[in-house]
Amino acid sequence: MDEETLHRLQAEIAEEQERLRSLQELFQGASLPDVADEAAHLEAVRFAGALAARSARRLKALQALAERREEEVRLCEDCGDPIPLSRLLAAPDCVCCRACQALRDGESVKEED
Ligand SMILES: [Zn+2]
Repeated sequence: MDEETLHRLQAEIAEEQERLRSLQELFQGASLPDVADEAAHLEAVRFAGALAARSARRLKALQALAERREEEVRLCEDCGDPIPLSRLLAAPDCVCCRACQALRDGESVKEED
């Protein structure tokens, strides 16, 4: 991983930390606007909680990437090729490369037919 990529990764981490913090505030109900309907309020809090959990997972994956740097390359579960760093940055918890992900998505769409 070169310096530029590492900087990009660190910027992504800072951004995700900021997102997580604001989601946690929402989750605690601190910055939720007054909602007349209690159910709608609870729904908004639950939604913020789900987003915060996803954000925390992404943050963890990004930090793992930054710590690991180039020592370890993640291999695609399907074809065994190294997953490009650009894809790991976009989807840090992905387990397969873009091409295989497209195949997986295609297959899942077919299953729904
Ligand atoms: Zn693959």
